[in-house]
Amino acid sequence: MKKLLVTGAALAAGGALLAGYVYGSMASTSELFGASVIAGAEETPETPTLALTYDDGPSVRNTPALLDLLAEHQVHATFFLVGDHVRRHTALARRVVAAGHVIGNHTMTHPNLARCLPGRVRRELEQCQKTIEDLLGVSPVLFRPPYGARRPDVTRAACRMGLTPVLWNAAAQDWLDIGADAMLANVDQGLQINREAGRASTVLLHDGSQLDKEAPLSRADTLVVTKRLLQRAHYRFITPLEWLPNAQN
Ligand SMILES: [Zn+2]
Repeated sequence: MKKLLVTGAALAAGGALLAGYVYGSMASTSELFGASVIAGAEETPETPTLALTYDDGPSVRNTPALLDLLAEHQVHATFFLVGDHVRRHTALARRVVAAGHVIGNHTMTHPNLARCLPGRVRRELEQCQKTIEDLLGVSPVLFRPPYGARRPDVTRAACRMGLTPVLWNAAAQDWLDIGADAMLANVDQGLQINREAGRASTVLLHDGSQLDKEAPLSRADTLVVTKRLLQRAHYRFITPLEWLPNAQN
């Protein structure tokens, strides 16, 4: 079993790491919020360990090219899918599953759960879970709260459903219009901090957007960032499943 860094421990150990995150101002402890996976300990410092995670898809505009790129490098990533998007682009979502990537629950309609009543929180998680199970035939065990926004009952609701919240410790900030170079620099900054702290990295990226219903947003820069990371032959790419407490490895 690999060593697991939970939210509380990570906050205590590296407040600076989380400064600036949406939830950075929350005085969270693992007891209050429940355990969330960020990333495991770095066990192979000479070959940095990364979990690439993509939120808000699937997107007809971006996901096919991303799948091709990941296949070319024989890397499995984690896709935190929005239930509504799975419903509208089921064939594409099935392609993600068929390619062997890990599927995570990213709620049905992508609300900020920290601002939702408990009933809505439950429905968002359950509807997304059921949509993925019914349409894709897989049952996610990972959950990422939209915007990283959590509250004790959000984590509790997820845990009750057998879902482990997965956060991140490196972000391209690809929701900003800053170009691929700046996005990669953001990721590298996170990787550097994690390396110095002896941690592996979970990288937050996006292949879709919660606005995709109106007009799919281009994630071309995210694809460039992904390509450049995949080209680093000495990196080891894994999924957060390896960091779950009951992982068999
Ligand atoms: Zn999202």
